[in-house]
Amino acid sequence: MPIYEYRCKVCGYAFERLQPISAEPLRRCPKCGSPVKRLIGTGIGVIFKGSGFYETDYKRKDSASELSRTKNSKTNKSS
Ligand SMILES: [Zn+2]
Repeated sequence: MPIYEYRCKVCGYAFERLQPISAEPLRRCPKCGSPVKRLIGTGIGVIFKGSGFYETDYKRKDSASELSRTKNSKTNKSS
């Protein structure tokens, strides 16, 4: 479930609300009842970052296993 960030246009009150994607966005400030603006991207941005980290981590693991394999064959030859 993504976290949506809202900011009140009138009093400036900012808050976050955990909502399912299908849920209607909040329209009213809980403090003063004025219309609020939804700031998009907080939760989704985190998900994109996570997948990027996963990709680099996977590549690093791959080269590391190759390195240890070369090391092992060297040890086998010498002994
Ligand atoms: Zn307000």
